[in-house]
Amino acid sequence: MLSLDLLIFVSLIYVAFLFCVAFWAERAAGLGRGGWMRTPLIYTLSLSIYCTAWTFYGAVGYAARSGLEFLTIYLGPTAVLIGWWLILRRLVRIARAERITSIADLISSRFGKSAFLGGLVTFMAVVGTTPYIALQLQSVTLSVSVFAKDAQSIVSISNIALWVAAGLAVFTIIFGTRNLDVNERHSGVVMAIAVEAIVKLFALLAVGTFVVWGLADGVGDVLARIDASPISKWQVSTGRWLGLTFLSAAAFLCLPRMFQVMVVENSEESHLPTAGWAFPLYLLLMSLFVIPIAVVGLDILPAGSNPDLFVLTLPLSAEQNGLAMLAFLGGFSSATSMVIVAAIALSTMVSNHIVTPIWLRARGRGATISGDVRSVVLISRRLSIAGILGLGYLYYQVSGGGAALASIGLISFAGVAQILPAMLGGIFWRGATKVGAVLGLICGFVIWSFTMFLPSFGPEVLISQNTIDHGLWGINWLRPTALFGIQGLDPVLHAVLWSILLNSFAFIAGSIFSKASPLERVQAVQFVSAFDSGSVARGWQRGAADAEDLLIMAQRIMGAAQAQTLFRNMAQKQGKKGYLPDSTPQFLETLERGLAGSVGAATAHAMLGQMAGGASVTVEDLMAVADETAQIMEYSSQLEAQSGELTTTARQLRDANEKLMNLSTQKDAFLTQISHELRTPMTSIRAFSEILQDPDLKSGDRPKYAMIIQEETQRLTRLLDDLLDLSVLENGQVALDLQSINLCDILNRAVASANVDDVINIRRNTSREDVVFLTDPGRLTQVFINLMSNAAKYCIVPAAELRINVSATSGVLIVDFIDNGSGIDKANQDIIFEKFARVSDHSKAGGAGLGLSICREIINNLGGQVAYLPGQHGAAFRISLPRS
Ligand code: ADP
Repeated sequence: MLSLDLLIFVSLIYVAFLFCVAFWAERAAGLGRGGWMRTPLIYTLSLSIYCTAWTFYGAVGYAARSGLEFLTIYLGPTAVLIGWWLILRRLVRIARAERITSIADLISSRFGKSAFLGGLVTFMAVVGTTPYIALQLQSVTLSVSVFAKDAQSIVSISNIALWVAAGLAVFTIIFGTRNLDVNERHSGVVMAIAVEAIVKLFALLAVGTFVVWGLADGVGDVLARIDASPISKWQVSTGRWLGLTFLSAAAFLCLPRMFQVMVVENSEESHLPTAGWAFPLYLLLMSLFVIPIAVVGLDILPAGSNPDLFVLTLPLSAEQNGLAMLAFLGGFSSATSMVIVAAIALSTMVSNHIVTPIWLRARGRGATISGDVRSVVLISRRLSIAGILGLGYLYYQVSGGGAALASIGLISFAGVAQILPAMLGGIFWRGATKVGAVLGLICGFVIWSFTMFLPSFGPEVLISQNTIDHGLWGINWLRPTALFGIQGLDPVLHAVLWSILLNSFAFIAGSIFSKASPLERVQAVQFVSAFDSGSVARGWQRGAADAEDLLIMAQRIMGAAQAQTLFRNMAQKQGKKGYLPDSTPQFLETLERGLAGSVGAATAHAMLGQMAGGASVTVEDLMAVADETAQIMEYSSQLEAQSGELTTTARQLRDANEKLMNLSTQKDAFLTQISHELRTPMTSIRAFSEILQDPDLKSGDRPKYAMIIQEETQRLTRLLDDLLDLSVLENGQVALDLQSINLCDILNRAVASANVDDVINIRRNTSREDVVFLTDPGRLTQVFINLMSNAAKYCIVPAAELRINVSATSGVLIVDFIDNGSGIDKANQDIIFEKFARVSDHSKAGGAGLGLSICREIINNLGGQVAYLPGQHGAAFRISLPRS
């Protein structure tokens, strides 16, 4: 038996060796001698981080439990690579053109450089990868425990996972964050991974060879054992096969670490065709001996041995310590390479999409010094690496490390596969929008969490047994394993089916029913038409374009002055006088940039293409132009709407201002009027009181003057009373004393009070006045008196008379006051109702001009109307009152 200390010692030597490889590769790359490292072979080997400890140990366990089904995990990636030109090539091309650094960056960038999406995908990736890292820690711990069964060691087994996590964090921090490369490439790490890829393949082949020819009697014997074992009797379920193959393909594309090695670290698109056959071959070799090892393990080893560890326990059972050590190193390599790349990829995402944006926002505008940002990015990456490994360790501790390797791996796969719809939609469908992507991702993630992730901790940890049995909140169709009442489905298939289906549905529906922002549309065109020759082969040949034509066009677009300056500068640069440079490619490029500022890049390119003749205008060009035009139109329609709004507001302001001015003029006029009206009586009161004080005054005159003073005082009081009355009426504060009363009574009372019989003859038809209605008799009498005394005052003709006509319909009561005087001419008919309005010679009558205003206010308060009635051969006023 191998001692545990020896095992740890060999592992440390191996890690030191990897350190050297990484270090040396990094240096070679730094010195520019790393060309040979960027070969299709290294690229293919780096893809092998797909084969983690799960594959190395778990595949055998998987086969021992479910027969050939483990192959599905290889079929997905094989399909993706064989069809490399369909998706992979697109991803690589887009990532290169857009300088994509991670899968979160890809999604965020495609959907309008959305910071939120970047953060969301990062969060999902971290959550989805955590179980997988835990899985690696678990497998290393398991494999160590095999050796530690009866050995004593300086290190306790329970701490192995912690030590491994810490060690990997240190390695990753050293090689993953040595420098900040714009392309996020890591030569050292890739090289170390390639070495590990060879070690694990070699180890598995060695164990396989030993098992087939050392333990069994060659191929024939193994085949016979397979026939005899339960593995051959496993039923293949088509649904599960299809589902798992799809899942592994999706995960292969979406796993952050796979995206890192496959897309980000890819230096040449030309590596893809080689990887297209070489990687499936690698997978084939990795799976070649899985079944034989499983079958022989089941045969030879005691019942109840963990099939996940057959790769180790078979050599050990035959005392093949060297081989067991090699197998251990193979598994160790599988685990470490996965964890390292995953941690690099995730830390890049965490720092780029979560930490740095938050830090920049917190810093405000201050973060302009590049060194400043750099150190923040580096620190945040290092901390994220430690954090990610910490999370993995935590999951390992919480989930108890008990579940079979394969099932944990599938949880992770399904989690990251949620990114697939947004990713594929993003690179193939121009109509995909940010809203759709956000909805899809959240929907898929929530369903995955509920159906797979939360239950994976076991009942009562994060999700109660009650919820598992009877559904969320007791709703039966919200059971994690039988969503929407679909029962009897395989749990993995169930979770994948629902999460991906609803995810895609939400993504598509969200995209259809939402509008893309201009930036999103631009990115959509960039991503979806990554392969259109038009957008790649830009640049101009010395064309047939005539400089003068170009100037004419440029003037139209950029404005004369700007265009002329540009042309003269270019001509000067070429050493020519005047405004017409030669149409050299440089000039055309400058011009295109200048034009792009006004009409958008695509339009500028297409226009110049037409005129310079060098490049033909492609359909894609036209589509891009249409896109730009749509944006410009949208922008201008927004402007139009805004300017419309502004005009309306301006008009409203002008109106309000006019009203204010009017009011202010009216107020001034009113005050002038009042002071004038008050001053006249006051002046005479003062004058006569002075006269009264004169001792020489004849005593006979005294009563006369005192009388005048009294009259003036009365006039003043009347005026003030009227003003007060009017102000009360105008403010609507008047309290009406409504009664049911006969019109005839009111008129009788008014005639009596007006007491004008000796001046004017009042003619009435009392039979028609017999109308009972609801009104304020006092107020109405006041109005009638006013109209009667006005007639008496202003109707100055020999036989003056005032007719009072009453006519009543069911709803309205009309009372007309018509005299036979000179009437009021047309221009003044409206004015007389205004305050202080007097149109006849008032020296005779002496009213202040408030009477009719008060009448109008009273009638309004009573719910009726008073108006001048023209065409009656005299002054005529009509009062209409409601009868109820
Ligand atoms: P005043 O206190 O001057 O009577 P009013 O508001 O009652 O004020 O009347 C306003 C003006 O309308 C009067 O000054 C007068 O010129 C004109 N007016 C009112 N009634 C008659 C009428 N029956 N005939 C001619 N003019 C009239």
